[in-house]
Amino acid sequence: MEKHITVEGTTINYFLKKSKRAKRIIVYIKKGGIVFVTIPYFIKEGMEEEFLRKKYKWIVKTKKNYIKTEFTKDGVHLDDNIINYKKEALNLVTTRIKYFNSFYNFKFKNIRIKNQESRWGSCSTLGNLNFNWKIVLLPQSLSDYIIVHELCHIKEMNHQDKFWDLVSLKIPEYKKLKKDLIARKLL
Ligand SMILES: [Zn+2]
Repeated sequence: MEKHITVEGTTINYFLKKSKRAKRIIVYIKKGGIVFVTIPYFIKEGMEEEFLRKKYKWIVKTKKNYIKTEFTKDGVHLDDNIINYKKEALNLVTTRIKYFNSFYNFKFKNIRIKNQESRWGSCSTLGNLNFNWKIVLLPQSLSDYIIVHELCHIKEMNHQDKFWDLVSLKIPEYKKLKKDLIARKLL
């Protein structure tokens, strides 16, 4: 059933479903920001409105991130779905690094996926490559840019011309992508 609530002048449309199996209210935000709400049978329809109202700020923020999150009866949300995104991110990064490094042939140690607040990726002096799990939410052109950027730091630990020359071998349009990435705030 299609429903909506309006909070602080912003309307949130959502699809409501009652479920026999659900044990808690589930808010599922799909790509494109479509909101699905599943409520257990023992919760009266309409009860979700108050709940969504309380979680309004979270929903608006999450609509941009497409995270599936479950809530307990008390409204505490369980972040275990980030674990799935981390797995997905590791898959993506590993595959793309393999692809790009068949060209570069750099020696790195480990690939790690982190829950960083302010960075898309980093390269440690020990040769570890770190990436933000949110990389999976980006278009591939941008995630490839981040991956190649960090990979090239294995060879050039700076942002001087030599470094960008290396990046441009595989990502010739890196200047544009770099700008796109800055324009895209990391939530
Ligand atoms: Zn860098």
